[in-house]
Amino acid sequence: MPHDSLAEEFSDAMRSLRDSDAEYVPLLVDLLLQKARDFRASDVHLVPQQVGLKMQLRIDGVLHHVASFDGDVCPRIVARLKVLAGLLTYRTDVPQEGRISSSDAEGPCGEIRVTTFPTLFGEKAAVRLFAGSDHYQRLNQLGLPEDVEGAMGSLLQSTSGVILLTGPSGSGKTTTVYACLRELVRLHGDGKGLMSLEDPIEVVVSGVTQSQVRPHVGFDLATGIKSMMRQDPDVIMIGEIRDPETAECAFQAALTGHLVLTTFHAGSAVEAVTRLLDMGIEPYLISSTLRAVVCQRLFRKACSVCLAQTATDRNSAGLSEPTNSADNSAADETLASRCRACGGIRYHGRFVTAELLDPHGPGISQALLERVDARQLETIAKECGMVTLQDRGRKAVRSGLTYPEEVFRVLGRSV
Ligand SMILES: [Zn+2]
Repeated sequence: MPHDSLAEEFSDAMRSLRDSDAEYVPLLVDLLLQKARDFRASDVHLVPQQVGLKMQLRIDGVLHHVASFDGDVCPRIVARLKVLAGLLTYRTDVPQEGRISSSDAEGPCGEIRVTTFPTLFGEKAAVRLFAGSDHYQRLNQLGLPEDVEGAMGSLLQSTSGVILLTGPSGSGKTTTVYACLRELVRLHGDGKGLMSLEDPIEVVVSGVTQSQVRPHVGFDLATGIKSMMRQDPDVIMIGEIRDPETAECAFQAALTGHLVLTTFHAGSAVEAVTRLLDMGIEPYLISSTLRAVVCQRLFRKACSVCLAQTATDRNSAGLSEPTNSADNSAADETLASRCRACGGIRYHGRFVTAELLDPHGPGISQALLERVDARQLETIAKECGMVTLQDRGRKAVRSGLTYPEEVFRVLGRSV
């Protein structure tokens, strides 16, 4: 079912169009992209159904069904996007990828990437609207918990070791790794050789010598790291560790006096460490070279407008303060559906949170050598003072920054 408020606003906007107009489809596509920006969407999905086409928007990381189209207009919407992105309109049987150049794309979003994919009921199109703004963030602008930000600032001044930034995809770790690179440039300027090996380069950072792997010619991450060592860098950033060989090369590089900054796909800081052990990295190598593991998540922020409205409505209705129980949540949802600021979603924007594991905490090195499991390692890390993502989520709910359902959605555990 389409999301009520967003769907209503979109269908209101559609009223300005006439399907008898010769320019109907181009105008519809313009409107669609404009509304996606207005709703702060990062992606637009046009999904062919058995009958018609479903339009979904990804807002703050979550998909919302906003509109459905039917009739012969459906393939023409996708075809129009293909024209704008310079794709072959007569090929509907192969995946294609293109860009709508910034001169065609209005507003600060700049470039728009369009990909198409053949499906059972026709071509699916996915449009990525590049937000751009978070590409330029510095470490102190990310909004990380103060203690984590402070620790990261000190860690980046290390001369050797591995700093591991982890989280699932979509947790914002790429934004953090680029912010760290900018911090390294700020700290060291030309005084240190900063090199990166990425797959692919997502953001250009002035002051860093960036390279992109080309696996088809044998220039992959593992061989690239070995060759890079002969280029005399001080700090290397490796886009992402995905296989044991790259992990091994990264840790060896750290062992020979380089600071290595890299990302890794893991659900928690302790899981990252146990996965490295599973990949065959020796416990002594981890305890001697790993400086820290940061695991982060993005939570959607409770919309402050409907939160305030809810409080007002509660007061005037003589209701008690919200306690975040399921009953209250349902009532809040009804009240929020009238909120124009968030389109009735109850959330507006996101904030980052993180947990930081110090592998040198008392008992942790020993636990690593004994290869304890993730659960035991987390218990020991907590005893050493690690504030877990769960703790951060609980605190965010208590301070009214987000709702319990959001913490459950992101972490898969209730608070
Ligand atoms: Zn709202």
